[in-house]
Amino acid sequence: MNLELSEEQSAVRRLARDFVEREVVPHATAWDRAEEVDRGIVKKLGDLGFLGLTIDERYGGCGGDHLAYCLVTEELGRGDSSVRGIVSVSLGLVAKTVAAWGSEEQKRTWLPGLTSGTYVGCFGLTEPGTGSDAGNLSTRAVRDGDDYVVNGTKTFITNGTWADVVLLFARSTDAPGHKGVSAFLVPADTPGLTRRTLHGKLGLRGQATAELVLEDVRVPASAMLAPEGKGFSVAMSALAKGRMSVAAGCVGIAQAALDAAVRYAGEREQFGKTIAHHQLVQELISDIAVDVDAARLLTWRVADLIDRGRPFAVESSKAKLFASEAAVRAANNALQVYGGYGYIDEYPAGKLLRDARVMTLYEGTSQIQKLVIGRALTGVSAF
Ligand code: FAD
Repeated sequence: MNLELSEEQSAVRRLARDFVEREVVPHATAWDRAEEVDRGIVKKLGDLGFLGLTIDERYGGCGGDHLAYCLVTEELGRGDSSVRGIVSVSLGLVAKTVAAWGSEEQKRTWLPGLTSGTYVGCFGLTEPGTGSDAGNLSTRAVRDGDDYVVNGTKTFITNGTWADVVLLFARSTDAPGHKGVSAFLVPADTPGLTRRTLHGKLGLRGQATAELVLEDVRVPASAMLAPEGKGFSVAMSALAKGRMSVAAGCVGIAQAALDAAVRYAGEREQFGKTIAHHQLVQELISDIAVDVDAARLLTWRVADLIDRGRPFAVESSKAKLFASEAAVRAANNALQVYGGYGYIDEYPAGKLLRDARVMTLYEGTSQIQKLVIGRALTGVSAF
């Protein structure tokens, strides 16, 4: 793998960095305190093409490779993980899944809106009773003439109250376990679908995380994405790429932690010299730096494998596992460098730590990633 970025990739990264410095960083603390990112950011992301990366130009996308997607995701994660998550879900989990599995009509209906930022997408898999064991979900879609009638509850859904379209997973046949699950593209304004924002999150406070309740929601059979019973495969393939995106966001968190820690260590004086002079502070900083590099290299490897059409799912789990744990460590180390000021949200470290923490939980907890990796190595499923 060539670790030197191409001209085009460098330009995309510069564009993303400038955008984040201008449009995200100055507002991130206020959005966190207000528990809402300014929704106008979505259109701005769309205008720059960040919501169309890797998507075919025929559907409003702007092409580009997965490394470019990772570079943009990292920069967004460096600025604000709430904004990063909006992109990782609307583009990463929804648009890219429609592009991979959708019919021509579904692509033409949803992709131009999702890639331009006119629409926001959300990914409705988790339920109150099923998180890690997602294939056991109980939301039901019952065939009635040319429609399906859907009933159930989804929870922890990122972008849930903002979304125009829900990529919804529901049980549509009596086949056992995940074999009975199908995927549907449900317009969020469909009668019977109600949404409630979940407040009081530890981090990602700017993001509209929601509960979705479906009561006799009627969707046409043409809204089914991929063949009946293939819904779990759709979800797992989306999450395999999604984990790379989470990992890239975590690299951004760790990089932000490094930048902040180095800056502060050069300013703060204790014992008659800047704290950068103290060896144990240098240890904290060097630990962050190694985590940043290791997480970034694992993440770029996944992008490279995808772009070369090679299997990548296990490598994606490795990258997500390592990068999410590294982001938590890095943010925690940065907080230590800040001392008591790290505990106050006028300084960046506390928010980085709060935002990082969920990365070890969603799109498969760290334990679930280990089971994926362990299964690949031993041939034994320990789920
Ligand atoms: P559980 O599955 O109940 O796990 C509890 C604990 O048990 C964990 O430590 C877990 O690792 C462990 N555990 C479970 N099974 C095993 C096992 N076999 N072996 C070892 N340990 C095990 N979901 C969506 O569908 N769409 C979204 O957009 C979305 N966004 C989210 C945003 C936020 C802020 C959060 C917090 C969650 C989001 N989720 C979303 C849900 C997320 O993916 C789940 O929370 C996650 O998969 C874990 O499920 P759970 O919370 O039910 O935990």
